Amino acid sequence: MLINISNHPSSRWDVNQTAAAHKLGGRRIIDLPFPQVDPAASTKDIEGLAANLMSQIWDIIKENMTTTDTESDDFESVVVHVMGEQTLCWHLLAQLKDRRIPAVASTTERKVEEKDGVKTSVFQFVQFRHYFGGSQWHVATAVENERQQCAAEQKRLSDAEFKAMLRAEIRSEIQTKFLCNGQVQYTWTCQECGETLRRARGEEEVVQRDVLPGGMAPRVTTRGSKTPPEECLIDEVLQHRCGSR
Ligand SMILES: [Zn+2]
Repeated sequence: MLINISNHPSSRWDVNQTAAAHKLGGRRIIDLPFPQVDPAASTKDIEGLAANLMSQIWDIIKENMTTTDTESDDFESVVVHVMGEQTLCWHLLAQLKDRRIPAVASTTERKVEEKDGVKTSVFQFVQFRHYFGGSQWHVATAVENERQQCAAEQKRLSDAEFKAMLRAEIRSEIQTKFLCNGQVQYTWTCQECGETLRRARGEEEVVQRDVLPGGMAPRVTTRGSKTPPEECLIDEVLQHRCGSR
């Protein structure tokens, strides 16, 4: 499969170019128009256009690959033809290279034709030249890599969700007590071993309180932690292992 990203739709290619495309990418040629690039666009805009193109290419590749055996010819012969505005080409090619998807440009030769005394120049296709990669770049590997990355991301997400669930559960088991000195005490008692863990608001933060002469406000030295005591207690509970968790 050859994905053509240029302003020259494959329907208007000459026989040589079409034949070369089939030789390179198999029977299928899919056209994606090269986007119009606003001359006033920023680099960030170009990155956006490139990302958008990349996701379209990726969709085409994956659609083509679904359920098919990853060793099939179509799978191996994905190549992207990229011709167009330089900065967008660069960003798109960088993404293709990252994913080890081979990319080519077409080279042309200028021919001058004379007809009824009028000279016109035409550009004749010569070859597809690889920007990088080639037949040794197996797109199956790129697809497999992405699949694995997705799976890892999924797992990371569900780990985070699981942790959040666990914390919520512990939070519901915490008892809150208002002490007469104005502190709030949080306690959690292990149902397995009976051990009680405690944290009070304020108590772990103030390390030293220096009373200064002359009625100035006391200087308070605190330990850096800004984590609320109930969250600290949850951390401690998560560390507590006596077989219950
Ligand atoms: Zn315990």
